[in-house]
Order: sequence, then C-alpha cells, then structure tokens
Amino acid sequence: MENGEWRMENDEIIGLEERHGSGLYPRQPIVLVRGEGARVWDAKGREYIDCVGGHGVANVGHANPAVIQAVTEQAERLVICPNGFYNDRRARLLAELVRVAPPGLERAFLCNSGAEAVEAALKFARLATRRKKVIAAMRGFHGRTLGALSATWRKQYRRPFEPLVPGFSFVPYNRLERMEQAVDEKTAAVILEVVQGEGGVIPGDGEYLRGVQALCRERGALFIVDEVQTGFGRTGRMFACEHYDLRPDLMCVAKAIAGGLPMGAVLIGPRVGDLPKKVHGSTFGGNPLACAAALATIRYIKAEHLPRRAAELGARLQAGLSAIPSPLVREVRGLGLMVGVELKVKAAPYLARLAGLGVLALSAGATVMRFLPPLVISEEEVDIVVERVETVLGRHSGGER
Ligand SMILES: *Cc1c(COP(=O)(O)O)cnc(C)c1O
Repeated sequence: MENGEWRMENDEIIGLEERHGSGLYPRQPIVLVRGEGARVWDAKGREYIDCVGGHGVANVGHANPAVIQAVTEQAERLVICPNGFYNDRRARLLAELVRVAPPGLERAFLCNSGAEAVEAALKFARLATRRKKVIAAMRGFHGRTLGALSATWRKQYRRPFEPLVPGFSFVPYNRLERMEQAVDEKTAAVILEVVQGEGGVIPGDGEYLRGVQALCRERGALFIVDEVQTGFGRTGRMFACEHYDLRPDLMCVAKAIAGGLPMGAVLIGPRVGDLPKKVHGSTFGGNPLACAAALATIRYIKAEHLPRRAAELGARLQAGLSAIPSPLVREVRGLGLMVGVELKVKAAPYLARLAGLGVLALSAGATVMRFLPPLVISEEEVDIVVERVETVLGRHSGGER
C-alpha cells in the first residue's frame, strides 16, 4: 500500500497545503494517508479509530471492498454519461434508491453534494407551489451555496455573504406552536433535519416532526427533510424519517450515499408534481461512476444490516459515554451512531487530546464533541473510544485553563 506521495515528509505535506490551499479550514496537524474499516493511518504510520468518518460519509467503512470493486469495474467501462442519454448504472441506482426510501418518494434528482441536493429541493418547492417563503430551524445546517446557506442558521456562515436569497425565516427547533405561527399561505416549504447535526447533535421530537408535516399538508406547503447527515443507516434506520414514520415531500441525501465518492440526491414525492424539462440540471449529477459506487454502498448497507448495527453500537457508545464520571459533561445525546457529548467548556482542546490518544472525533458547535464513526466499527473499537474519551475528560486530565 506504499507509494511515493505517501512517503512525502509529514511537514512538507502540511507546508504545501498551508501555502497553496484556500486557507478556509482550521486543521489538526495530522496527515491522513490511508484507511480501512473504522481505522485510518497518518503519514507517520500512526493508527487512529476514525469517529469523524468523513463527517458521516464513511458509513460502509474506509476501503470497502464492495465499493472498490464497483468503482474499479465502472471506471474501466464508462465514467461519464451526459444526462441527455440513458445509462444502465443510473437506472439501477434510481430503482434501488426509491426502493429503500420512505414510501411515496418514487423519483430522484441526482447531484454531487448535500448543498446541491438542498438547492434543488428549494427550487423544486418554489416551482411546485408557486410560493416563495421557506421556513427553517434555528441551529439548522443545510450547506454553503447561497440557497442552502439562506436556510442555514449560523450567523458566522451567513453574514459575510448577505444579502442571501429573500423569503427565508427561522423558528426554534422542536417548538410546534412557533411553526404553527410561521407557516402560512405564502409558504413554499419547511426544511428540517431529523437530528440537527452541525447544530449540536439535537434529535428532533417525533410529535414535533409529524406535527410540522401535518401543518405543511394542511396549509399547502411542502415538507423538505434534510437527511444528508442522518441517511443510510447512521441513526439506526436506513433513514431517520423511519423512526417517526415521516413521509416528506422532498428528502435530501448525500454524504454516505456513494461510499465516499461525491454524490447527492433529492427524492421527490407526489405533491411536487411534474418538473418542467430543463428548469434544473447538473453536468456530473448521476454520473455512472458515482452511481456504481452508490449502488454497491446501498446493497452493502442492506446485506450487512448496518442500520441495526448502528442502533446497537450507538446504544453501546451512548451508554459508555453517559457513564463517564466527569464534571465537564453536560449531556450525552444522539440517535444510533450519531452521538454528541455536550461539555460545559469548549470541545476543541479535548478533541485534540483525544486525537493524541488515537481517536479522531469532530465538534458540533463550540462545546459538543461529535462521534460519526463508520457503521462497521467493532464493539471493541467502540469500547476503546469510550475508554479514551474517559481519559481526556476524566479527573486525571487536568481540565482546561
Ligand atoms: C453536510 C450537510 C450538508 C451539506 O453537504 P455538503 O456535501 O457539504 O454540501 C447539508 N445538510 C446537512 C444536514 C449536512 O450535514
């Protein structure tokens, strides 16, 4: 598994990225060069248990053999097929996607990222309803393109780019009465996550989500569910919608869909109606390479019962983390293998220390440690994660100055 690139000196790699990269991303001083299952290795040969999982992309594990085979075979056959033509891989993936999706979602638009999926869903909602307003949730995250950003809560992301798309407003999450006041005859759509990810790993309440859905039906608005982070087994079901029997009109997915390759999709329900030809599109969307990867990924998730695994191992991880006797922990919460530990202090120094002990995790806002491991993580690996989190948060850690 060696090659010349990987032998490049650790510091040289960091130097090149610092000099020639965009500078947009705060980074840990770790150079990742290889992965397998729930483990990754850095340029110095150090091994880590990966609870970042590519921000919830690596559900089927790094270097998944089924994905490798599908991608390799497809790369040798056909990589791009313009959307003006039909394609075998695309056809099979579309059929598989709607088969695993919540009932009623019988069509899909294929794209290349989460933000693009959200962007498309917002456009489809305006088209279908001929209305303009969109209601989103405080602490919600839907992506960085101007449309998706308009539905994203955080000021730090929004302010430098204003004015954003007009017609967007925000209400508190999990407060049905506030949504009742907000949705009216001008509302095209409500967009929500089932578990707010970036906002701090905040699970939605079932009554609330079903209530919002009913409200949308009643007032002629569309219900858009953003499953970009929660989709494909992460929360213990194929889609988090299934926990509460939700039937969204539009469902956005991306991240884990294609085993690590860039892909996104919007699943489309009957209330959207026909979409006029040419009103939207994407050059790379639905390319056969990503479709082959996605098909292999979805089949693997089903064959290996990864949603059930996520439920079981998620319960184990949450129980383990909850049992850590630390005065620094405010709350442990989550759904399946989407788990957050809210601290009373900033999470970053503890995440850095955790990385030093060989466990990678990410933040969700300033004070939440977020765990999104591959769903193929083993029980032993989950236990090691808990043990090492305990080491950094426990009474011997010294705390933050
Ligand atoms: C990551 C994420 C997005 C944006 O996805 P990108 O592929 O980064 O554009 C949108 N919505 C949710 C809920 C996400 O977690």
